[in-house]
Order: sequence, then C-alpha cells, then structure tokens
Amino acid sequence: MAENEQPEVNIGLVGHVDHGKTTLVQALSGSWTDQHSEEMKRGISIRLGYADATFRRCPDVDEPECFTVEEECPDGSASEPVRTVSFVDAPGHETLMATMLSGASLMDGAVLVVSASEPVPQPQTEEHLMALDIIGIENIVIAQNKIDLVDAETARNNYQQIQEFVEGTVAEDAPVVPLSAGQEVNIDYLIGAIEQEIPTPERDPTVDPRMHVARSFDINKPGTTHENLMGGVLGGSLVAGELNIGDEIEIRPGRQVEEGGQSTYIPIETTVRSLQAAGQSVETATPGGLLGVGTALDPALTKGDALAGRVAGPPGSLPPTWDQFTMGVDLLERVVGAEAGETIDEISTGEPLMMTVGTSTTVGAVTSARDGECEVSLQRPVCAEPGAKIAINRRIGARWRLIGLGTLQG
Ligand code: GDP
Ligand code: MG
Repeated sequence: MAENEQPEVNIGLVGHVDHGKTTLVQALSGSWTDQHSEEMKRGISIRLGYADATFRRCPDVDEPECFTVEEECPDGSASEPVRTVSFVDAPGHETLMATMLSGASLMDGAVLVVSASEPVPQPQTEEHLMALDIIGIENIVIAQNKIDLVDAETARNNYQQIQEFVEGTVAEDAPVVPLSAGQEVNIDYLIGAIEQEIPTPERDPTVDPRMHVARSFDINKPGTTHENLMGGVLGGSLVAGELNIGDEIEIRPGRQVEEGGQSTYIPIETTVRSLQAAGQSVETATPGGLLGVGTALDPALTKGDALAGRVAGPPGSLPPTWDQFTMGVDLLERVVGAEAGETIDEISTGEPLMMTVGTSTTVGAVTSARDGECEVSLQRPVCAEPGAKIAINRRIGARWRLIGLGTLQG
C-alpha cells in the first residue's frame, strides 16, 4: 500500500477572487496533487480544484510553531504526520457562485481568505460567508492574506475591519490568522488554527455509503477501441459510509431520456470497478477528499460532467427524487455582493429561481408562493432527503444572486 493517507476531512477555500485562495492551497499542499486524470486537471481552472495536504508536526516544538507540511523540520529532524486533509478550492468569480455552492455541500469546514490589501468586505467575501452560513458550515478559520503587501498599521486596521464584518455571522468566533500565502509566512499558525477549529467529523463506517457526484468524465482517448474502453468515471466525495471495489451502486436521479417530447430521468445501476483517492488506487474509499470512481458504465453516459449533481449509493438506499417540491423559505435581509444593500422582495408565483441542493444545481419555476414557503417545479429533478438545505438564488440584473435558505419539505 502506498504511503499517501486518504484525506479524512474536506476544507473549503472561499473568498473574493484574487485574494489568494489558490496560492494558499499551494503553500499548504506543496503542489496540486495528481488529479486522477488529464480531464480532471483541465477542468480545475473553472471547476472546483482539489488538493490534498498532510499536516505534520515537528517533534519537541511547541504549538503552533510545530506545524508544517514539510517532511523535514528546520532543525533537520523528521516531522510526523498529524492528519491528511483535502482542500476544495472554490472559484471566486461571481458568475461561479453556483459552483461554489455545490462545492460547499462537500465541505466540513472552510478557510475564508481575505486580502489585507483591500477594504473589507469585497463582494464575494460577503457572499461566500453568507453561503457558508446558509449551508451550515460553522467551522471556519479566516486567513488574512497578503500581509507582506501592507504596513503594520494597515494590517491592524484591516484585521479590525474583518472582526467587525464577521460580527453576528457564523464566523463571529472564527480565529483570524494574519499570513502571507505568497511568502509562506505564518502557515504554521494557520495549520494550528485549522487543527483547532475544523476537526474531522465523526463517521460511522457501517452506514450505507453515499456519494455526492460533483463531476463525471470519459477518460478514454479519442479512437480507443471497444475492448480497451474504460468505463465512465464519477468524481465527488463520500459524505457517509465506505465504498469498496465491487460494490453495486445506484445513481439518482440517473440519466435523462426523451420520451415523446418529454424528458424523464431513470436511475442507473452499475458496479464500482476502481477507486482513486489521494492520487492512488485504493480498495476502500472513506469520506474526505476527492474520489474518482471507475464504473462499468458506458463512458458516453459520464462524458462532460453529464452526471454531475447526482447522488450515488447502494441500490434502494438513496433518498427520493423530486421533480417538484415544497420548501420552507428563509430569505436574507438584503442582497449581498455587488448590489449590496438592496432589499429582497418576497418570492412570487411564476418567478424562476436557481436552487442548489447538494452538488446539484437546477432552475425551477415557483408554482405557488405562500408566507414562508413555496412550491417549485424543477427543470431537472434532484435526489435529496426531506429536510435538505437548499441555497435559493434569484436573477437580479445579469446574474443569479443568493437570496435565502430553503428547506426541502416534500
Ligand atoms: P484566488 O483568485 O483567490 O485563487 O487568488 P490567487 O491565489 O490566484 O492569487 C491572486 C494573486 O495574488 C496572484 O498574483 C498571487 O501571486 C497573489 N498572491 C497570493 N497570495 C499572496 C501573498 O500572500 N502576497 C502577495 N504579495 N501576493 C499574493
Ligand atoms: Mg483561485
């Protein structure tokens, strides 16, 4: 068995574009880990990026200075592994909020990256924090980045602005770690804060495995002959249980079929043929980290993210599929992001909404809006448990904006 530990926890990197999320992931993980296939690598720039990092500790050094990602300590001694984590690097561009939200369903905690060289908050700093709040990610560390670019007084003022900004939010008590991702300063303090604030969730290995599918691929080169064709690959994360090679899985809502001008979805069943975790083949996969699941499916079915947003697990174990549902609605007080300050009108019958449930994003039309709840008819069905959290977005100006939290009622 290879030496890479499977990551045990997913940590989101969120925050405004250019504040240093990707640079910070690089500082924490050395480099991007092997992303399981070329196709996956190519997708990273606009889709979610993943990187695994093993936090280590130098013997005989106090916390948090003992923390490192290097195998060799400054004094030449060997560091000891503490925990392997997986970073989900969310895109900061405002148009990719849906991607950020679907990624958030895979996060056990998050690092909010805020640049010390700009006033706080920038639009997506606020929007991403609101999204963490809505999705219920409470274990948060704030990285005050780029302190190498500012003088001490600016850094202090910015630190103060961050404190004021998070007051009354889910990140109110989150530690703020001043650092420079670019110069790799205070990375030890950041790891120490993550170790404190973002523990590995307790997992029950005996429950049915459930995977949220964030991506899907055809990994075959064009022109591959039939006998050499590899089955379709699913990319995503296990949120519960363990998955083994040879397991039978069902994928819901499944695949789209056209029937007399109507499109419906039928569940797919297949077998797990291979598992890739932490950049290597494994027999058993556990929650945490990005998982590549090789299946027996026709790769045409998985090509180009065709199965993104689906849920996979043992046949018969998955939650219901919904073409329409009623959701409880809890609206934000005002629009966050670029048009900050604008109040949010009640949801009205007939209006289109974009909803993110798990890793699935779909547009729906409101068929009935009442006080505190509404019924929506979905363009694409979703597979989710009653009680599931839904990020509700409304079209405001040229883009979808987060306006509230929905709770799936049935
Ligand atoms: P992202 O959009 O949040 O992923 O931001 P990036 O990681 O791509 O960083 C945006 C820019 O800021 C890049 O040019 C980085 O080199 C630079 N940058 C990131 N971290 C630091 C830092 O700590 N100090 C300085 N001076 N520049 C940084
Ligand atoms: Mg980036």
